[in-house]
Amino acid sequence: MATHMDPDEFRRHGHEVVDWIADYWSGLHDRRVTPNDPPGTVTARLPATPPEYGEGFEQILADLDTVIAPGLTHWQHPGFFGYFPANTSAPSVLGDLVAAGLGVQGMLWATGPACTEVETVMLDWLAHLLDLPPRFRSTGPGGGVIQDSASSATLVATLAALHRASGGEWRMSGVTRRYRVYTSTQGHSSIEKAARLAGLGDDGVRAVEVDETLALSPKALRTALEADRAAGVVPALVVATIGTTSTTAIDPIPEIGEICREYGVWLHVDAAYAGAAAVCPEFRYTHSGLEYADSYCFDPHKWLLTGFDCDAFWVADRAELIEALSVLPEYLRNAATESGAVIDYRDWQVPLGRRFRALKLWFVLRWYGVEGLRAHIRSGVQLAAWFADRVTADERFEVAAPHPFSLVCFRLRAGDEASSELLTRVNATGRVYLTHTRVAGRYTLRLAVGSPLTTHRDVALAWQLIAELAGQDGPGHVDRDAV
Ligand SMILES: *Cc1c(COP(=O)(O)O)cnc(C)c1O
Repeated sequence: MATHMDPDEFRRHGHEVVDWIADYWSGLHDRRVTPNDPPGTVTARLPATPPEYGEGFEQILADLDTVIAPGLTHWQHPGFFGYFPANTSAPSVLGDLVAAGLGVQGMLWATGPACTEVETVMLDWLAHLLDLPPRFRSTGPGGGVIQDSASSATLVATLAALHRASGGEWRMSGVTRRYRVYTSTQGHSSIEKAARLAGLGDDGVRAVEVDETLALSPKALRTALEADRAAGVVPALVVATIGTTSTTAIDPIPEIGEICREYGVWLHVDAAYAGAAAVCPEFRYTHSGLEYADSYCFDPHKWLLTGFDCDAFWVADRAELIEALSVLPEYLRNAATESGAVIDYRDWQVPLGRRFRALKLWFVLRWYGVEGLRAHIRSGVQLAAWFADRVTADERFEVAAPHPFSLVCFRLRAGDEASSELLTRVNATGRVYLTHTRVAGRYTLRLAVGSPLTTHRDVALAWQLIAELAGQDGPGHVDRDAV
């Protein structure tokens, strides 16, 4: 017989879990950022089969300390500088807890009116917060929706673009002509994945050349569009990036937008990480030209203190997206949908079902307020700038790319091998964690600031470790790779 946890037990254990999370956060500083164990370590700590009879909650909680926490990379650690941040915050966690407790499935307006309406308002709030063009507001023909990730945003933008480029034919008959998607050589891997899922294949994506700042070259884009058109290929979508994943390069959206308008191609702007910076007026220059975009997305789950998953995605014309994705079986028919007066977000995404993710955004936006969010972004950018200054001042190092946001790409002048060895040594300390990329073929370290716990002290520690472990190899040292 099932023994449900009654409300009083839930209250008690719920408090214990919140205490556990609070202790976890306050103790993060003393943990290694990444575990040091070989693959299979966590598996070996787990029984091979589930328990026959229910266990005490104390045992479950105790195993968080012995099985789970030691086997994690701690993304909220103040010394986590890898990839891009995946922020969370206490208000976000609490909003998510409420969403979990409500257990609402918001596929249709009718299955949870507040779930839909709060989401619409939150996306309008975010559009206001980032000062996005008016065309994305729900009060006009556009509107926003929460996707799980920027990858899903790319996918639905691709499908809507195909719908438009084919004049609706794609929806009926699939891919009957050769369509193509364009992005820079620095575009995110999700663009290729979306093209595969949409049936365009890897040949359906053209990687356009970049300039010396690693931003897409409008001239090269035009050449590619011309050549494809002449060859009978239909250009369907251009994906431009504000803040590329490798180095945070910013594609020239105004020029790209002009070209897209001229060729009648859907423009999707992917600002997964860097979009959050637009909460600050001084970083809005990075979003100029956005009025050309047919769709735009950024991830509050990366740099805006909202726990994964939360991608904010907007379209300028929601009718095109809905036409591309809508399927209405009899069992979902209802008066509200029929009336045309409501939004059914199932038509804006790939899955049918959806969680009440807007609740965590609501908690975050209200707790921090616009000023609180701006302070978080500014702190990250300032810490990154401080770090870049240290790198520049040390003649053993060089900054490898512009750093308009909170990511600094840098390397040892001594070459790839020295840089790669340095990263291994720095991460082996367990006190900080950085990742790497290649810039124009050269091995490059990345330091991305973003955890709400990261302070000047943590970035200073990172620099101290990096400077010490880089050794004495000066610019005169010649690396084997370089000769
Ligand atoms: C991180 C990133 C993505 C993918 O983000 P997910 O939300 O994890 O799918 C897409 N584009 C860019 C530019 C990114 O930096």
